[in-house]
Amino acid sequence: MIVCSVEGCENEAAWTYAWAWGEEGACCAAHRSLIESQSVNLGRGVIFTSIDNDTNPGKKKSYSAPQIVALAPELGAAKMKIAEQQVQIQDLEQKNEELKAQIRVLHRTTPAAEPPKADDVEVTYTPPHKSSHPKR
Ligand SMILES: [Zn+2]
Repeated sequence: MIVCSVEGCENEAAWTYAWAWGEEGACCAAHRSLIESQSVNLGRGVIFTSIDNDTNPGKKKSYSAPQIVALAPELGAAKMKIAEQQVQIQDLEQKNEELKAQIRVLHRTTPAAEPPKADDVEVTYTPPHKSSHPKR
């Protein structure tokens, strides 16, 4: 393990640092601000690099090897099929909405006609052919 290079500090270093003139060191999390203030006082740049160790688990957790997931060809074909069907469904839903809109328009322009009730129809004359619109 790397120990903090600040005099008198025994902590495990969480950061390595490199001064602009090339000097390098390591420091614990508590002493990073000390190095930073030295950098400000000296007017020289210092670059910190976090050390991947147990005192710095955040970095360790966030690092994961990139995984290349190879799809089986059948799975790829199935996914493609699903995508195609989703497009078809979207098309059908859109057509369905258009038809619904047309039905609404037709309902507005043609008020529902009451079918003639049998009692209201006076059958005085029965034509030889049955008419769907009997005269009153
Ligand atoms: Zn320290």
